[in-house]
Amino acid sequence: MELRLYNTLARKKEAFRPIKEGEAGVYTCGPTVYFYAHIGNMRTYIFEDGLVRALRFLGYRVRRVMNITDVGHLVSDGDEGEDKMEVGARREGKSAWDIARFYTEAFFRDYKALNCLMPDVLCPATEYIKEMVDLVSTLEKKGFAYRIGDGIYFDTARFPEYGRLAGKSHIEGIKEGARVEANAEKRNPSDFALWKFSAPGERRQMEWDSPWGRGFPGWHIECSAMAMKHLGDTIDIHCGGEDHVAVHHTNEIAQSEAATGRPFANYWLHGRFLVTGDAGKMSKSAGGFLTVETLREKGYDPLAYRYLCFSAHYRKQLEFTWEALDAAARTLDGLRGMVARLSEEAGGAAAAAPDRQSASFSRFSEALADDLNMPQALAALWDGLRAADAGPAGKLAFAKTADEALGLDLFRAPAVQDVLPPELMAMVEARRQARQEKDFKKSDELRKALLEKGVQVEDTPKGMRWKLAK
Ligand code: AMP
Ligand code: ZN
Repeated sequence: MELRLYNTLARKKEAFRPIKEGEAGVYTCGPTVYFYAHIGNMRTYIFEDGLVRALRFLGYRVRRVMNITDVGHLVSDGDEGEDKMEVGARREGKSAWDIARFYTEAFFRDYKALNCLMPDVLCPATEYIKEMVDLVSTLEKKGFAYRIGDGIYFDTARFPEYGRLAGKSHIEGIKEGARVEANAEKRNPSDFALWKFSAPGERRQMEWDSPWGRGFPGWHIECSAMAMKHLGDTIDIHCGGEDHVAVHHTNEIAQSEAATGRPFANYWLHGRFLVTGDAGKMSKSAGGFLTVETLREKGYDPLAYRYLCFSAHYRKQLEFTWEALDAAARTLDGLRGMVARLSEEAGGAAAAAPDRQSASFSRFSEALADDLNMPQALAALWDGLRAADAGPAGKLAFAKTADEALGLDLFRAPAVQDVLPPELMAMVEARRQARQEKDFKKSDELRKALLEKGVQVEDTPKGMRWKLAK
């Protein structure tokens, strides 16, 4: 089956053609570990995990590399201001190294709770300083780098393709590439730091010697150096959140391609943001943001959040509300209830393999292959589990294979509600949808029909619940 992915660079869906037949090299920008990751960050990692799992589901051997930004990400996108790690260290009275260790561990706790698979290669930026220095030296030899008072910079005017990822002409890209307080010494506003010098007299906790003087790498050079080290000069797929298009990924492309003369990544995938109604964009600096831990403390299964993320396409903005999370929690529980019921019916044994020719399995696979259409894939799974023409063992096999792609722990026992047979569960789900669409006539009819079959539904502030009428 042909996999099609929306490529930000081409601004359209394209058939995925890997560099090596049957393989996919994927680089995903990792967290900046100066504070907890919020659930907005985690939406991007869930989308990327969905990509990796979908590639494997479709038969690709995947090598996924993720970095940890533990140095060099400055408070402003324009290479000004403090290093976020040093800010974290001062805030908590710890060393920058301790901050990095602490928040890296916190990140992976959440990451694993969301069933995201560990990357094949995980690279903390501080362990790749040599590769970064080598890359900057290459750029310097080729005439793309210049020195000013506070560091070595990339000259964007020397790279005619600059700004292409964001759909800007070269000159527009140069003007807009950096939303910055201008550094008067830079040749162009969008020029960016490859290597920053420690300020005279400054005692930075993280600094290294280099051919240009003591200092630390720029944030963008980190990803270029680590991606090329582990995946080669040209990589198949590079991902991140939408905020990275205009600056971070634009700069990664410029410096990598200037150094090698080859395309840096063939496919660029970007996930849209999670937003909250009142505060708009969720950000680490805004304070009062939500973490996976907060969801857990409130009694939610983190995978309910994963389900919520998959209920919207990754290229659509998703608004977080507690009602939506409640609905996702119930729906996931219902799905697990269906699987538990099928397990009982099948005496616990799934068929060896799902019927790949069945209409719902084909729809499931096609949805994944169509630019990771998770909402469609979930709909196909629901249909497959309630289809009248397949037995419980076959349906269980479908659920098992689908769950390898979805990572929703569908075989976990449902949490709170009575397990219903699939046809009743389907009616419950139809009623939930009717209510969501405010079709109250239909939802009332379904409530009555369910009651006749011995199921009582109830609408609570936390969403719809059901139980077997005694
Ligand atoms: P950071 O740790 O700030 O470097 O961000 C980690 C990842 O989260 C990046 O890929 C960002 O693009 C992404 N990201 C940041 N904020 C959001 C958000 N509100 N929704 C989705 N992804 C986000
Ligand atoms: Zn990056």
